[in-house]
Amino acid sequence: MIKIAIPGSAGRMGGMLIREIAAAPDLELVAATDRPESPSIGHDAGEVAQTEANGVIIGSEPETLFGLADVVIDFTSPTATLHHAKLAEAHGTAIVIGTTGLSASDETKLLATTKGNAVIYCANTSVGMTLLTQLVEEVAARLTQEWDIEILETHHHHKVDAPSGTALALGKAAAKGRGVALDGVADIVRKGQIGARKQGDIGFAVLRGGDVVGEHSVIFYGESERVEISHRATDRAIFARGAIRAARFAATANAGLYDMTDVLRG
Ligand code: NAD
Repeated sequence: MIKIAIPGSAGRMGGMLIREIAAAPDLELVAATDRPESPSIGHDAGEVAQTEANGVIIGSEPETLFGLADVVIDFTSPTATLHHAKLAEAHGTAIVIGTTGLSASDETKLLATTKGNAVIYCANTSVGMTLLTQLVEEVAARLTQEWDIEILETHHHHKVDAPSGTALALGKAAAKGRGVALDGVADIVRKGQIGARKQGDIGFAVLRGGDVVGEHSVIFYGESERVEISHRATDRAIFARGAIRAARFAATANAGLYDMTDVLRG
């Protein structure tokens, strides 16, 4: 049995993960937390996740996640994730991180916490999106600078960060294909008299509304032709299932930093 702990257990992804764990014969939920002010504190994690009661009571002390668990799966917020990542390293506990919206400096801090444990960090844990990201890098590598690259993403109206972590990961893949760093070419905010599009830039456009689980398109605009690569998620269970696959991988992985490509290869 692989013992799993879930911070953010009252959240949308937390609930989905707890339902997936309940259905998996090789996984056991051993601890669950949420923010101290969450109304879920003191309640059974299974009931909060709208599945069978499992006897795991949701607490608010992050340390409780690291006593019994083989793997912690973290879909919370950037501040909480950084704290959990430090605790995971201190305890030598494997951690799967799906939280998005980490700043560049947050990511630098996160990357410094991978010496004593396995860390799987991925802005999108779906299998389809992992393959799409690889495809985007390959297409960008084959097309010349004259092709304008634009990334369009749509998410539900609860989402707090923009562009999505997945859109930025797709931008990084396209930039990598072109042999440049995304920071130097990303065009994220367009408003007012901004002038003509600069060749080589990678543009981002963001839509928010309703209950959209997640839609991403990478569009390569050429002269008189266009290549579009898209992914549409219709059920967030795909992210939970991918995170569970990552947790199984993490349970036996050596210390170090991994992403979903490593998980699919593993
Ligand atoms: P949500 O707001 O429904 O859930 C987040 C939960 O984390 C909440 O219950 C919140 O109270 C809890 N939380 C916040 N701070 C905490 C702390 N210090 N300790 C414990 N719990 C804490 O959000 P969500 O839709 O479940 O998404 C969570 C994160 O996962 C976001 O960053 C989102 O973008 C990301 N996400 C990633 C993927 C992926 O494939 N990697 C997929 C979906 C969502």
